[in-house]
Amino acid sequence: MPERSASSLASRDRGLVWHPYAPLDGPTPYAVRSASGVTLELCAPDGGLYTATDAMASWWCAIHGYRNPRLDAAAHEQIDRFSHVMFGGLTHEPAVALAERLTAIAPGPMAHVFFADSGSVSVEVALKLALQFQAAVGRPGRQRFLTVRGGYHGDTFAAMSVCDPVDGLHSAFPGVLARQVFAPRPPAARLVVADTDEERWETDESALAVWTDEVRSLAAQHEGELAAVVVEPVLQGAGGMYVYHPDCLRVLRDVADEHGLLLVVDEIATGFGRTGRLFASEWAGVAPDILCVGKALTGGYLTLAAVLATSRVGDAITASAHRALLHGPTFMANPLACAVANASLELVESSWKDDVPRVARLLHEHLSPARGLPGVHDVRTLGAVGVVQLDGPVDVARVTRAALERGVWVRPFRDLVYTMPPYVCTDDDVRRIAAGIVGAVEEVHS
Ligand code: PMP
Repeated sequence: MPERSASSLASRDRGLVWHPYAPLDGPTPYAVRSASGVTLELCAPDGGLYTATDAMASWWCAIHGYRNPRLDAAAHEQIDRFSHVMFGGLTHEPAVALAERLTAIAPGPMAHVFFADSGSVSVEVALKLALQFQAAVGRPGRQRFLTVRGGYHGDTFAAMSVCDPVDGLHSAFPGVLARQVFAPRPPAARLVVADTDEERWETDESALAVWTDEVRSLAAQHEGELAAVVVEPVLQGAGGMYVYHPDCLRVLRDVADEHGLLLVVDEIATGFGRTGRLFASEWAGVAPDILCVGKALTGGYLTLAAVLATSRVGDAITASAHRALLHGPTFMANPLACAVANASLELVESSWKDDVPRVARLLHEHLSPARGLPGVHDVRTLGAVGVVQLDGPVDVARVTRAALERGVWVRPFRDLVYTMPPYVCTDDDVRRIAAGIVGAVEEVHS
């Protein structure tokens, strides 16, 4: 794209197209000239050009980088066959192969797959499935969900209702969102990795005991109205890049079992290796009843998510009056997206075990200088996730620009400057990302 048309693109965009959570007259976005490997070429609103290593993997999806030859080939091959067909009454190889692949690698014995078209929709479907399950087993009065504060599950209405009630969008829709049961946020934890690669979780044990008691008493108090527990395992993403102890997930599993609730685990952000396990549930050895995956599923190429369920859940639905899971979007199991997802999962299977610990080590080492900076509250890493948390809100425009000057694309939010880079970053790419974040924070906030 020529330089002039890139900057005029930004002005054509302004006021016409809504961007995520941004006013129509908000800051002008950067225009993308190209995306290849882990590199973005961007044109700033003032016409300045930047070549930047992508620290965001396009909101945590593009784990294999842009224009990945294997994913490009999978997309081309499928587009030469057919891009889309309806899923009502029809099936196709990419969807069935992907369902087989997902059930084979999922944490726990998952038997059934529903393909949705985005993460939020998959959460809607998961919640609907839990409601249908409870009705099917004779408990139609169980229509609420138990979750923890600090979570994020998407922007559709049921998904919003289980997001954090203070930091989420509840206040924008007073009286509209279903009223869920919120347990306190689990106490923060840290994974300590020794030089010997031995891993140890640390948390405040007494806070953990208090939290456990509170969750148990909430579940007991609301038992008759609760259908399921809904939670992001071990890492809360958009709710604050917050890490908690796997024991808390085990507690939620136990509580669900004791009170007849299903456990819905949202691995949309954490799935496919991001936290240092193929699924973050594995840190706790917990098998969910219902699992949501999305984001990196297609390596960031196309929008696709999936809801997986155990045979207990599937059997109950089949035995119910409706017999079916009552959902069926137009683009369900889009063949193009499924074909790319199959190729993406092949790449995940062959490379995440090498790449994620390598990226994790480098992030841990090269973000740690931020720890000593004035204005920095905390520095934490888990797998290929690196977070610098400030004492107050980030100056997003200035930090973004300062990082770009250092050859790095970041998109901070709230008090967080963070990275979830593509797994295919070289060691130098990861060092550049970490240095860019530390340097930008130092320049703008210290
Ligand atoms: N759940 C989690 C844990 C997420 O991180 C996100 C997206 N950030 C969603 C659900 C919603 O996914 P989508 O944006 O694809 O609707």
